[in-house]
Amino acid sequence: MPPRGACCARRSCRETGVNAPDPDHAPHAPVLLTPGPLTTAVSVRAAMQADLGSWDDTFRTLTADVCATLVDVVHGAGTYACVPMQGSGSFAVEAALGTLVPREGRMLVPSNGAYCERMLQTLEVLGRSATRLAFDEREPIDPDRVDAALLADPSITHVGLVHCETGTGILNPLDAVAEVVARRGRRLIVDAMSTFGALPIDLRGLPAEAIVGASGKCLEGVPGMGFVIAPETSLACARGRSHSLALDLHDQWRHLRATGRWRYTPPTHVVAALDEALRLWRAEGGRAARLARYRRNCTTLVAGLRRLGFETLLADEVQAPIIVTVHAPADRRWRFDAFYRRVRDRGFVLYPGKLTRLDTFRVGCIGAIGLPEIEAAVDAIAGALHEMGVDPTSDRSRSAHAFQAAR
Ligand SMILES: *Cc1c(COP(=O)(O)O)cnc(C)c1O
Repeated sequence: MPPRGACCARRSCRETGVNAPDPDHAPHAPVLLTPGPLTTAVSVRAAMQADLGSWDDTFRTLTADVCATLVDVVHGAGTYACVPMQGSGSFAVEAALGTLVPREGRMLVPSNGAYCERMLQTLEVLGRSATRLAFDEREPIDPDRVDAALLADPSITHVGLVHCETGTGILNPLDAVAEVVARRGRRLIVDAMSTFGALPIDLRGLPAEAIVGASGKCLEGVPGMGFVIAPETSLACARGRSHSLALDLHDQWRHLRATGRWRYTPPTHVVAALDEALRLWRAEGGRAARLARYRRNCTTLVAGLRRLGFETLLADEVQAPIIVTVHAPADRRWRFDAFYRRVRDRGFVLYPGKLTRLDTFRVGCIGAIGLPEIEAAVDAIAGALHEMGVDPTSDRSRSAHAFQAAR
């Protein structure tokens, strides 16, 4: 049972006052410091109150508006189309790989984390040839090594790049990799799931075969819809290529173009919420303003965690302002589960680590949150540590030391 007031860490709740119940706010709902699902605005959740018919003009217009805006976010109007896909982000990645990479193609995946590995796993399941180019999880993808790999293997037709590897929070150099891929005459598919709408992606100067995003990350909608932004010409010539009926991007694109409707039941409430989330995105000042807020969140979070004695996995120069990976304290009283519960009881939800070799946890900086939530989260973390009798400074993490020594 969360203590009284735990729900009021959320800004929307503060604005209405601790004692004034917010009818749209589930009691004791925590602030999600996770990169999807994440904390959403009251009006985004309220947008889901209406039941929309999938066949109705209202929903057709909504779909067209949302897709046009998503193309505009990455400056792709005129050449690119947005194809929405039911499901979480991985469904859209799988649809993009299955539809845009020919069955006889080969994809190079430079890998520095869990989502790069998921892309490789997807290719394997789809029966598409793939080459892994391995990097340390604390190092960004090096475009020169991508270049060398492309030069060495002419059978590689595509490159799959994860823009921000959410498994650690590291930012990969999208523009430099795109430039190399284009220079070598190959095609680039970008998993921009955790950057779309916040980090710069500009298709006017960045040749890409696909940019894949989702409703519930930096756009701050609710989860349930992915999307692929791809050249109309590529979508048009991808007929019959998909291994899957439901995940056939070409078919979804063609059906939408011909009828304005999705194939199969669309997540109507999710689309309505995303439409409202995009309105808020514009009202905030668009991509640059959103990035600036996430940067402030991230800087404040990292400073707060370091004040408590924690060490971050990544150097500041390669840290994307999306999610921060933190070394677990070496203290023998440390238990992530107990820590998680105590922080949760104070109104904040954290994420476990996604690294195989190091003991870490993760804290997100994205969602409808700002400095009040971040500062309160750091206080909650401090309180949880105090209760557990854990002092991260007293006995510095062995893994962190090993890392420092290795650098
Ligand atoms: C969230 C995310 C995905 C998709 O994950 P789902 O659990 O399917 O939503 C893919 N790639 C990256 C980089 C992500 O952050």
